[in-house]
Amino acid sequence: MPDAIGLFDPDRVAVVGGTDSEGSIGRAIMENLESFDGTVLPVNPKKEEVLGHTAVSSVEEIQDPIDLAVVVVPPKIAIDATRELGAQGVTNVVVITAGFGEAGSEGATREQELSKIADEYEMNLVGPNSLGVMSTPDNLNATFGPSNAIPGGLSFMSQSGAFITAVVDWAIDQGIGFNDIVSLGNKAVLDESDFIEIWESDPNTEVILGYLEGIDDGRAFIDNARSVTKETPIILVKSGRTEAGAQAASSHTGTIAGSERAYEAGLDQAGVLRAENVQELFDYAQILEGQPVPDGDGIAVISNAGGPGVMATDAIGESNYDMASFQDETLETLQDTLPEGANIYNPVDVIGDADNERFKAAIDIVLSDKNVQAAMVLASPIAVLDYETLAIDISTLQEKYETPVATALMGGERIQNPADTLREHGIPNYFDPARAVNSLDALMTYRDNTQIEYETPEPFDVDKEKVQEILETATKRSNRLGVEAMGILDAYGIETPTSEIVDSPQDARAVAAEITGDVVMKIVSPDILHKSDIGGVKVGVPESGVKDAYEDLLTRAKNYQPDARILGVQLQEMVDLDTGIETILGMNRDPQFGPLLLFGLGGIFVEILEDTTVRVAPISEREAKTMIGEIDSAPLLRGARGNDPVDETALVEAMQRLSLLVTDFPAILELDINPLVVSPDGVQAVDSRLTVDPDKL
Ligand code: ADP
Ligand code: MG
Repeated sequence: MPDAIGLFDPDRVAVVGGTDSEGSIGRAIMENLESFDGTVLPVNPKKEEVLGHTAVSSVEEIQDPIDLAVVVVPPKIAIDATRELGAQGVTNVVVITAGFGEAGSEGATREQELSKIADEYEMNLVGPNSLGVMSTPDNLNATFGPSNAIPGGLSFMSQSGAFITAVVDWAIDQGIGFNDIVSLGNKAVLDESDFIEIWESDPNTEVILGYLEGIDDGRAFIDNARSVTKETPIILVKSGRTEAGAQAASSHTGTIAGSERAYEAGLDQAGVLRAENVQELFDYAQILEGQPVPDGDGIAVISNAGGPGVMATDAIGESNYDMASFQDETLETLQDTLPEGANIYNPVDVIGDADNERFKAAIDIVLSDKNVQAAMVLASPIAVLDYETLAIDISTLQEKYETPVATALMGGERIQNPADTLREHGIPNYFDPARAVNSLDALMTYRDNTQIEYETPEPFDVDKEKVQEILETATKRSNRLGVEAMGILDAYGIETPTSEIVDSPQDARAVAAEITGDVVMKIVSPDILHKSDIGGVKVGVPESGVKDAYEDLLTRAKNYQPDARILGVQLQEMVDLDTGIETILGMNRDPQFGPLLLFGLGGIFVEILEDTTVRVAPISEREAKTMIGEIDSAPLLRGARGNDPVDETALVEAMQRLSLLVTDFPAILELDINPLVVSPDGVQAVDSRLTVDPDKL
């Protein structure tokens, strides 16, 4: 991406289509630019002057260099204007004009043309179909929204322009200020990844916020955001997304791992904070802007009211904090300071008649305790307590100890000024104590995100050519492969039980004789995906029963679907399910994030139990371990009820090997290993199925 600094920090702004015609967007933008500190140059062939600014009649006539051009002319002219701007050396362009990618195939073609021009002239192009950009340090409002944002440390990108106008308007009332705002529009050129990069190096941006409906290149976003978020927190609100990739999924993984889960996993892996709604977005933004991250997990609550204290304690129970246990010295000082009947233990209750002095003393003592790494102050209004003084005291003490603090000074009108005072000191105030805890929790999540060391996935010794060969041969028959493709797993070092596919009862008997003990027999057909559903799996067949079982499997297959293509019957050694646990390891491709790995409790009830977790591949060893720990059944794997724990090292390796396989072969669209039997002795892939796109081979 070329240097995009001038985009938010221009001296000279041209408005192509700037006009004074009442009710036009071109006029709205000119009016919003009234307060701009720099020069505004309207480009309009029909006007000599627009709202006091001398106009030029065309882009070609622009004399001095332009740092930012805003384009508001109809689509066809917009394309020409953009090309002319490029030829003039203008690199920052915001295309407000709609009628591109969002408007049918003709619009899509126009949008491609716009991208091509931007590419050719190396332009930073915002939009098209954008509301515009704002930047408060220079009083730049190059949007057609109705209000000017107030200055602050938040930089905000939104895929919806309407949402920006609403948010800016609301934020003014809330006293929430912004640094830069961009309406992403159709993201023909610049997208979310570019803006997090722009803001990473911007000293005025304290927190990056986004409202996104989709992420164009999920993997690139993850890699980019991971590094940015270490310096500047990124918070995104998820919007209602339609399930992408509507084609019916043929694997369990495809059914379970929908795009919503991809989005969640992807953003988590990117170290981004996810807000559930707009309120959370700004709650998190404000606390991250105003408060330091806690350097431990202990939290203290100081209140003058029992009820709210209990509410806070409950909320803390569900957060990542623990109620701090005070040092002896703290308890002694509190004992000496507070009246009888007060609770000196956490949550501290200074009791209902507490005046400002007592309240302040308690906060001071608690914050001085080194077991306290975050604090909440709660208060209900009483006559002897002045909220404004309390707000000032809390602010002073927060600055003194640099401990993150959130407050719930509860009340109506009377809370307005104290809340402003607190906000000026970066302390958010809420009516609801639970909301304060939730915000403090975001500080902790952010802290943890910045501490993650991202490892590069391990390389393994694998046989790529073999996989290529198997895929090419098998896809001549069908794009859906079953157990006949288990050689693929073998080639990537994922262990499979001894098995062989035969096409006669005689051969079946011969193979069974070579396998120690009873065998498992499975019908092999690209037309039968879920074998046991049709009775196509026979477990524990003795050698003497193999011939009959063979005939029976064929009969069942024919009954199910007379024209089913039968490739034969697979004979497999029995895997011990007394010590082994059936898990599922799979992959489904998300249109935005790419290969999504799924791990969970497996077997034939996988979709009913739904105990699974997902990650965007490739995954590292650490991520594989985290996935195992995340499923509800993790204790089962780790030796619950006196059982031996399974070989987790082997499992972690199998997960990484599968991750490598699906990264190496984009042609594999979906894949299930179900069950992957995990036992104290290792892992075994007992069954697999996959879907392949032969065009990508
Ligand atoms: P499908 O999923 O198509 O129904 P599977 O090969 O997964 O077929 O077999 C279904 C179930 O049969 C497995 O979940 C497992 O419980 C059991 N099973 C299959 N193969 C073996 C084996 N080699 N050893 C022990 N049990 C097996
Ligand atoms: Mg299966």
